[in-house]
Amino acid sequence: MAFSSITGQKQIKIRLAAEAQRRGSGTYMLTGPEGTGKRLLAEEFAKALMCSDAGPDGACGVCSNCRYFDNCTTPDVTRVYEPSDTKMVKVDFIKDRVVAESYLKPQFARTKTFIIDFDYLGVESQNALLKSLEEPLKDVVFILTSSNTDAVLDTVMSRVTEIRLDPYSDEELEEIVRANCPGLEDGKIKTAVYNSGKIPGKAISLAREDSGISIRHEINSIMTAMPASSYIDVLEDFTEVLSGFKDDAKIIASSILLFLDDAGRLINYPDCRKINNENEREAIEKFVASNKHIDTIKLGRCTEAVNTFLRALEVNSNFDSAASAMLLRIHEVLKK
Ligand SMILES: [Zn+2]
Repeated sequence: MAFSSITGQKQIKIRLAAEAQRRGSGTYMLTGPEGTGKRLLAEEFAKALMCSDAGPDGACGVCSNCRYFDNCTTPDVTRVYEPSDTKMVKVDFIKDRVVAESYLKPQFARTKTFIIDFDYLGVESQNALLKSLEEPLKDVVFILTSSNTDAVLDTVMSRVTEIRLDPYSDEELEEIVRANCPGLEDGKIKTAVYNSGKIPGKAISLAREDSGISIRHEINSIMTAMPASSYIDVLEDFTEVLSGFKDDAKIIASSILLFLDDAGRLINYPDCRKINNENEREAIEKFVASNKHIDTIKLGRCTEAVNTFLRALEVNSNFDSAASAMLLRIHEVLKK
Protein backbone atom coordinates (compact mmCIF):
# COMPACT_ATOMS: atom_id res chain seq x y z
CA MET A 1 0.00 0.00 0.00
CA ALA A 2 2.09 2.86 -1.19
CA PHE A 3 0.96 4.64 -4.34
CA SER A 4 -2.08 2.35 -4.39
CA SER A 5 -3.28 3.95 -1.15
CA ILE A 6 -3.82 7.15 -3.11
CA THR A 7 -7.05 7.30 -5.12
CA GLY A 8 -6.92 8.32 -8.80
CA GLN A 9 -3.95 9.66 -10.83
CA LYS A 10 -3.16 6.17 -12.12
CA GLN A 11 -0.76 7.13 -14.91
CA ILE A 12 1.13 9.59 -12.73
CA LYS A 13 1.53 7.02 -9.97
CA ILE A 14 2.95 4.46 -12.41
CA ARG A 15 5.32 7.06 -13.77
CA LEU A 16 6.53 8.29 -10.38
CA ALA A 17 7.04 4.74 -9.10
CA ALA A 18 9.14 3.97 -12.19
CA GLU A 19 11.19 7.15 -11.72
CA ALA A 20 11.78 6.20 -8.09
CA GLN A 21 13.00 2.75 -9.06
CA ARG A 22 15.37 4.36 -11.55
CA ARG A 23 16.63 6.65 -8.79
CA GLY A 24 18.06 9.28 -11.07
CA SER A 25 18.46 12.88 -10.27
CA GLY A 26 15.99 15.38 -11.62
CA THR A 27 13.54 18.18 -11.08
CA TYR A 28 9.83 17.46 -11.23
CA MET A 29 6.93 19.82 -10.78
CA LEU A 30 3.47 18.52 -9.95
CA THR A 31 0.89 21.05 -11.07
CA GLY A 32 -2.87 21.36 -10.68
CA PRO A 33 -5.40 23.47 -8.78
CA GLU A 34 -5.32 23.71 -4.98
CA GLY A 35 -6.83 20.72 -3.22
CA THR A 36 -6.06 18.18 -5.94
CA GLY A 37 -3.59 16.08 -3.94
CA LYS A 38 -0.24 17.30 -5.27
CA ARG A 39 1.39 17.17 -1.87
CA LEU A 40 0.13 13.67 -1.19
CA LEU A 41 1.73 12.45 -4.41
CA ALA A 42 4.92 14.43 -3.75
CA GLU A 43 5.26 12.86 -0.31
CA GLU A 44 4.68 9.36 -1.63
CA PHE A 45 7.18 9.95 -4.43
CA ALA A 46 9.78 11.18 -1.91
CA LYS A 47 9.17 8.12 0.24
CA ALA A 48 9.65 5.83 -2.76
CA LEU A 49 12.93 7.61 -3.55
CA MET A 50 14.09 7.09 0.05
CA CYS A 51 13.04 3.45 0.25
CA SER A 52 15.78 0.84 -0.06
CA ASP A 53 13.38 -1.66 -1.65
CA ALA A 54 11.00 0.38 -3.81
CA GLY A 55 8.81 -1.55 -6.25
CA PRO A 56 6.21 -0.82 -8.91
CA ASP A 57 3.88 0.51 -6.19
CA GLY A 58 6.54 2.75 -4.68
CA ALA A 59 7.88 2.52 -1.14
CA CYS A 60 7.95 -0.85 0.65
CA GLY A 61 6.79 0.73 3.91
CA VAL A 62 8.86 -1.56 6.14
CA CYS A 63 12.56 -0.82 5.56
CA SER A 64 14.38 1.46 7.97
CA ASN A 65 14.38 4.33 5.46
CA CYS A 66 10.60 4.08 5.12
CA ARG A 67 10.25 4.11 8.88
CA TYR A 68 12.48 7.17 9.20
CA PHE A 69 10.41 8.83 6.51
CA ASP A 70 7.15 8.10 8.31
CA ASN A 71 8.56 9.53 11.52
CA CYS A 72 9.83 12.64 9.69
CA THR A 73 13.28 12.01 11.14
CA THR A 74 15.35 11.62 8.01
CA PRO A 75 17.93 14.26 7.08
CA ASP A 76 17.65 13.15 3.45
CA VAL A 77 14.25 14.75 2.87
CA THR A 78 13.76 18.50 3.18
CA ARG A 79 10.28 19.98 3.02
CA VAL A 80 9.58 23.60 2.20
CA TYR A 81 5.90 24.18 2.89
CA GLU A 82 3.92 27.17 4.11
CA PRO A 83 5.94 29.13 6.69
CA SER A 84 4.28 29.55 10.07
CA ASP A 85 5.37 33.13 10.72
CA THR A 86 5.39 34.83 7.32
CA LYS A 87 3.33 34.68 4.17
CA MET A 88 6.15 33.61 1.89
CA VAL A 89 9.27 31.55 2.53
CA LYS A 90 12.28 33.74 3.25
CA VAL A 91 15.02 33.72 0.63
CA ASP A 92 17.69 33.04 3.27
CA PHE A 93 15.88 29.86 4.21
CA ILE A 94 16.05 28.72 0.58
CA LYS A 95 19.75 29.55 0.38
CA ASP A 96 20.69 27.83 3.66
CA ARG A 97 18.33 24.87 3.78
CA VAL A 98 17.93 24.04 0.13
CA VAL A 99 20.71 25.42 -2.08
CA ALA A 100 23.56 24.73 0.38
CA GLU A 101 22.08 21.38 1.48
CA SER A 102 21.68 20.22 -2.09
CA TYR A 103 25.47 19.98 -2.41
CA LEU A 104 25.73 17.53 0.49
CA LYS A 105 25.56 13.78 0.03
CA PRO A 106 22.54 11.90 1.33
CA GLN A 107 23.22 10.27 4.71
CA PHE A 108 21.04 7.16 4.79
CA ALA A 109 19.17 6.88 1.52
CA ARG A 110 20.66 6.86 -1.94
CA THR A 111 18.76 10.00 -2.83
CA LYS A 112 18.48 13.41 -1.27
CA THR A 113 15.02 14.82 -1.87
CA PHE A 114 13.61 18.31 -1.58
CA ILE A 115 9.85 18.82 -1.65
CA ILE A 116 9.08 22.48 -2.27
CA ASP A 117 5.66 24.09 -2.46
CA PHE A 118 6.17 26.87 -4.99
CA ASP A 119 2.94 28.58 -3.93
CA TYR A 120 5.01 30.03 -1.07
CA LEU A 121 8.09 31.09 -3.07
CA GLY A 122 8.49 34.65 -4.28
CA VAL A 123 10.58 35.74 -7.28
CA GLU A 124 13.77 36.16 -5.25
CA SER A 125 13.55 32.68 -3.76
CA GLN A 126 12.80 31.16 -7.13
CA ASN A 127 15.82 32.89 -8.62
CA ALA A 128 18.01 31.64 -5.77
CA LEU A 129 17.03 28.10 -6.71
CA LEU A 130 17.62 28.35 -10.45
CA LYS A 131 21.10 26.92 -10.59
CA SER A 132 20.32 24.03 -8.25
CA LEU A 133 17.24 23.13 -10.25
CA GLU A 134 19.07 23.25 -13.53
CA GLU A 135 21.87 20.89 -12.61
CA PRO A 136 20.91 18.88 -9.58
CA LEU A 137 23.85 16.81 -8.40
CA LYS A 138 23.69 13.08 -8.91
CA ASP A 139 21.34 11.57 -6.30
CA VAL A 140 19.45 14.82 -5.75
CA VAL A 141 15.77 15.05 -6.66
CA PHE A 142 13.63 18.15 -6.47
CA ILE A 143 9.89 17.60 -6.23
CA LEU A 144 8.14 20.92 -6.69
CA THR A 145 4.42 21.58 -6.52
CA SER A 146 2.47 24.54 -7.84
CA SER A 147 -1.21 25.47 -7.87
CA ASN A 148 -0.54 28.42 -10.13
CA THR A 149 2.18 28.10 -12.74
CA ASP A 150 1.59 31.71 -13.81
CA ALA A 151 3.39 32.68 -10.61
CA VAL A 152 6.37 30.47 -11.45
CA LEU A 153 9.24 32.06 -13.36
CA ASP A 154 9.62 30.92 -16.97
CA THR A 155 13.25 30.21 -16.22
CA VAL A 156 12.08 27.73 -13.56
CA MET A 157 9.40 26.18 -15.75
CA SER A 158 11.93 25.55 -18.51
CA ARG A 159 14.07 23.55 -16.09
CA VAL A 160 11.42 21.24 -14.66
CA THR A 161 9.63 18.15 -15.88
CA GLU A 162 6.04 19.22 -15.43
CA ILE A 163 3.57 16.55 -14.35
CA ARG A 164 0.04 17.88 -14.59
CA LEU A 165 -2.49 16.11 -12.39
CA ASP A 166 -5.37 14.45 -14.22
CA PRO A 167 -8.99 15.31 -13.46
CA TYR A 168 -10.70 12.95 -11.00
CA SER A 169 -13.73 10.92 -11.98
CA ASP A 170 -16.88 11.18 -9.85
CA GLU A 171 -16.30 7.62 -8.60
CA GLU A 172 -12.79 8.52 -7.47
CA LEU A 173 -14.01 11.67 -5.76
CA GLU A 174 -16.71 9.71 -3.94
CA GLU A 175 -14.11 7.19 -2.80
CA ILE A 176 -11.90 9.99 -1.47
CA VAL A 177 -14.78 11.63 0.42
CA ARG A 178 -15.94 8.29 1.82
CA ALA A 179 -12.45 7.57 3.16
CA ASN A 180 -12.24 11.00 4.77
CA CYS A 181 -15.78 11.19 6.19
CA PRO A 182 -16.56 7.69 7.44
CA GLY A 183 -20.22 7.03 8.04
CA LEU A 184 -21.50 9.83 5.82
CA GLU A 185 -24.56 8.81 3.78
CA ASP A 186 -24.16 8.19 0.06
CA GLY A 187 -26.55 10.99 -0.92
CA LYS A 188 -24.51 13.52 1.01
CA ILE A 189 -21.27 12.23 -0.48
CA LYS A 190 -22.70 12.66 -3.97
CA THR A 191 -23.89 16.20 -3.19
CA ALA A 192 -20.45 17.17 -1.92
CA VAL A 193 -18.81 15.73 -5.04
CA TYR A 194 -21.34 17.45 -7.31
CA ASN A 195 -20.56 20.86 -5.76
CA SER A 196 -16.81 20.38 -5.56
CA GLY A 197 -15.78 21.48 -9.05
CA LYS A 198 -14.04 18.06 -9.19
CA ILE A 199 -11.51 19.17 -6.57
CA PRO A 200 -11.06 16.45 -3.92
CA GLY A 201 -10.00 18.90 -1.17
CA LYS A 202 -13.14 20.95 -1.77
CA ALA A 203 -15.36 17.85 -1.81
CA ILE A 204 -13.93 16.74 1.53
CA SER A 205 -14.49 20.11 3.18
CA LEU A 206 -18.06 20.32 1.85
CA ALA A 207 -18.76 16.81 3.12
CA ARG A 208 -17.26 17.65 6.53
CA GLU A 209 -19.46 20.72 6.83
CA ASP A 210 -22.45 18.65 5.87
CA SER A 211 -21.63 15.94 8.37
CA GLY A 212 -21.41 18.64 11.06
CA ILE A 213 -24.93 19.72 10.18
CA SER A 214 -26.24 16.18 10.12
CA ILE A 215 -24.72 15.39 13.53
CA ARG A 216 -26.61 18.36 14.95
CA HIS A 217 -29.84 17.13 13.45
CA GLU A 218 -29.33 13.59 14.79
CA ILE A 219 -28.48 14.92 18.24
CA ASN A 220 -31.57 17.13 18.29
CA SER A 221 -33.71 14.13 17.37
CA ILE A 222 -32.18 12.04 20.14
CA MET A 223 -32.54 14.79 22.73
CA THR A 224 -36.17 15.56 21.92
CA ALA A 225 -37.00 11.85 22.08
CA MET A 226 -35.05 11.29 25.30
CA PRO A 227 -37.77 11.89 27.98
CA ALA A 228 -40.17 9.34 26.47
CA SER A 229 -37.51 6.78 25.53
CA SER A 230 -36.71 3.56 27.32
CA TYR A 231 -33.41 2.54 28.86
CA ILE A 232 -32.94 0.03 26.02
CA ASP A 233 -33.56 2.71 23.34
CA VAL A 234 -30.78 4.74 24.87
CA LEU A 235 -28.36 1.89 25.39
CA GLU A 236 -28.80 0.42 21.93
CA ASP A 237 -30.26 2.81 19.36
CA PHE A 238 -28.97 6.16 20.57
CA THR A 239 -25.49 4.84 21.34
CA GLU A 240 -25.32 3.35 17.86
CA VAL A 241 -26.17 6.69 16.25
CA LEU A 242 -23.37 8.41 18.17
CA SER A 243 -21.01 5.61 17.32
CA GLY A 244 -21.44 6.50 13.63
CA PHE A 245 -19.90 9.90 14.39
CA LYS A 246 -16.98 8.60 16.46
CA ASP A 247 -14.45 10.83 14.71
CA ASP A 248 -16.46 13.91 15.55
CA ALA A 249 -16.79 13.63 19.33
CA LYS A 250 -16.36 17.37 19.76
CA ILE A 251 -19.20 18.10 17.33
CA ILE A 252 -21.38 15.59 19.18
CA ALA A 253 -20.63 17.30 22.48
CA SER A 254 -21.13 20.80 21.15
CA SER A 255 -24.40 19.77 19.47
CA ILE A 256 -25.78 18.47 22.76
CA LEU A 257 -24.65 21.62 24.56
CA LEU A 258 -26.32 23.79 21.92
CA PHE A 259 -29.55 21.83 22.35
CA LEU A 260 -29.41 22.18 26.14
CA ASP A 261 -28.73 25.88 25.79
CA ASP A 262 -31.73 26.26 23.46
CA ALA A 263 -33.99 24.33 25.82
CA GLY A 264 -32.83 26.54 28.72
CA ARG A 265 -33.54 29.71 26.78
CA LEU A 266 -37.00 28.55 25.77
CA ILE A 267 -37.84 27.53 29.34
CA ASN A 268 -36.85 30.95 30.69
CA TYR A 269 -37.91 33.09 27.75
CA PRO A 270 -40.48 31.27 25.60
CA ASP A 271 -40.53 34.21 23.20
CA CYS A 272 -36.77 34.50 22.86
CA ARG A 273 -35.96 35.77 19.41
CA LYS A 274 -33.09 33.57 18.44
CA ILE A 275 -31.90 30.14 19.45
CA ASN A 276 -28.89 28.14 18.24
CA ASN A 277 -30.99 25.65 16.31
CA GLU A 278 -33.35 28.14 14.78
CA ASN A 279 -34.11 25.72 11.93
CA GLU A 280 -35.37 23.15 14.45
CA ARG A 281 -37.07 25.58 16.77
CA GLU A 282 -40.49 24.00 16.53
CA ALA A 283 -39.24 20.60 17.72
CA ILE A 284 -37.36 22.11 20.64
CA GLU A 285 -40.35 24.26 21.65
CA LYS A 286 -42.46 21.13 21.65
CA PHE A 287 -39.85 19.36 23.77
CA VAL A 288 -39.99 22.16 26.36
CA ALA A 289 -43.80 22.44 26.32
CA SER A 290 -44.44 18.74 26.74
CA ASN A 291 -41.80 18.15 29.41
CA LYS A 292 -42.66 20.58 32.19
CA HIS A 293 -40.68 18.44 34.63
CA ILE A 294 -37.45 19.58 32.97
CA ASP A 295 -35.96 22.71 34.49
CA THR A 296 -32.64 24.51 34.13
CA ILE A 297 -31.16 22.57 37.05
CA LYS A 298 -31.78 19.32 35.17
CA LEU A 299 -30.32 20.81 32.02
CA GLY A 300 -27.23 21.75 34.03
CA ARG A 301 -26.83 18.13 35.11
CA CYS A 302 -26.94 17.10 31.45
CA THR A 303 -24.19 19.61 30.71
CA GLU A 304 -22.08 17.95 33.41
CA ALA A 305 -22.62 14.59 31.69
CA VAL A 306 -21.35 16.05 28.41
CA ASN A 307 -18.24 17.40 30.11
CA THR A 308 -17.60 14.03 31.74
CA PHE A 309 -17.86 12.45 28.27
CA LEU A 310 -15.26 14.84 26.86
CA ARG A 311 -12.92 14.27 29.79
CA ALA A 312 -13.23 10.51 29.37
CA LEU A 313 -12.20 10.77 25.71
CA GLU A 314 -9.23 12.94 26.61
CA VAL A 315 -7.81 10.01 28.57
CA ASN A 316 -8.55 7.70 25.65
CA SER A 317 -11.54 5.90 27.07
CA ASN A 318 -13.49 3.69 24.70
CA PHE A 319 -15.81 5.89 22.66
CA ASP A 320 -18.89 3.66 22.83
CA SER A 321 -18.77 3.21 26.58
CA ALA A 322 -18.14 6.92 27.18
CA ALA A 323 -21.01 7.81 24.83
CA SER A 324 -23.48 5.37 26.35
CA ALA A 325 -22.56 6.48 29.89
CA MET A 326 -23.30 10.08 28.87
CA LEU A 327 -26.60 9.20 27.18
CA LEU A 328 -27.75 7.06 30.13
CA ARG A 329 -27.01 9.87 32.55
CA ILE A 330 -28.92 12.37 30.39
CA HIS A 331 -31.80 9.90 30.15
CA GLU A 332 -31.89 9.43 33.90
CA VAL A 333 -32.12 13.19 34.40
CA LEU A 334 -34.67 13.95 31.67
CA LYS A 335 -36.98 10.92 31.68
CA LYS A 336 -40.62 11.35 32.60
ZN1 LIG B 1 11.11 0.93 2.15
